[in-house]
Amino acid sequence: LDFKILGTGSATPQLERNPSAFVVGLDNFSLLIDCGEGTQFQFLKYKIKSSRLKYILISHLHGDHYFGLIGLISSFNLNKRSDSLTIFGPPGLDELITLQLKLSNTQLNFKINFFATNPASPELIYDNDVFSIHTFPLKHRIPCVGIKITQKESKRKIITEKIPSDFPISFFKLLKDGFDVKDELTGKIYKNSEYTTLGQPPKSIAYCSDTIFDTSIVEHIFQVNLLYHEATFSEDNTLRATQTFHSTAIQAATIASKAKVDQLIIGHYSSRYKTISHFLEEAKTVFSATVLAEEGDSYLI
Ligand SMILES: [Zn+2]
Ligand SMILES: [Zn+2]
Repeated sequence: LDFKILGTGSATPQLERNPSAFVVGLDNFSLLIDCGEGTQFQFLKYKIKSSRLKYILISHLHGDHYFGLIGLISSFNLNKRSDSLTIFGPPGLDELITLQLKLSNTQLNFKINFFATNPASPELIYDNDVFSIHTFPLKHRIPCVGIKITQKESKRKIITEKIPSDFPISFFKLLKDGFDVKDELTGKIYKNSEYTTLGQPPKSIAYCSDTIFDTSIVEHIFQVNLLYHEATFSEDNTLRATQTFHSTAIQAATIASKAKVDQLIIGHYSSRYKTISHFLEEAKTVFSATVLAEEGDSYLI
């Protein structure tokens, strides 16, 4: 499970920071969380493979989180994408995209599956054998959701050195699924405990942007391995953070501490800050395992 940062800015454009966009890599595919203006240029800069991108999640409809979406979709089309794309986003996002495509007379070569998120209550929005996606309400000026992506525990791993050369291939799956297997021809029993070890434990990432300081989200992100929480302001602007439904670095760190997460990444910095090192100093007074979001950085869990 891999988390790559493509944007650390907020609201108004900044020359040195791009708006929110994050790529989560899982096995052989990836998800994009938020798609601020210019995200497709960040794809080029950091060599993100768009062919691996299967899912896009948009947290809310402030421009710094989705203005890059129509550009990305249009370029996928020009590049002859044929694989379907699944987009989760606030109600109304599908209408926005459909209208833009209709008025530019664009016929897509690929199918978009759109699912509306629910900003009012927590939901499991996607679930398969490999991973699941949960959303939960964030308190912001417009409807907004937080996102938790969980990579499930992997199947048991076979100890290949112990497997004899005449071992039937069809038995591998049964062993991985946790069964003991009996070879009817030889009568030999392959005990699961002898021939396999535990798979990878489940891993999770949570994304909370944008939000006022709100401890009610703690239960939804409890003990995740990696938490991205917005820190638009530092301590000098606590009042402004509350007025604009954003958080400070210390507030983000407080959430991380209460949720007992392994690591916190803070980002979504306001354009008023030319340097941000004090964000880290402030956050670390509350939660030491904090890092600053820097564009191009990746975190492997
Ligand atoms: Zn924002
Ligand atoms: Zn916002």
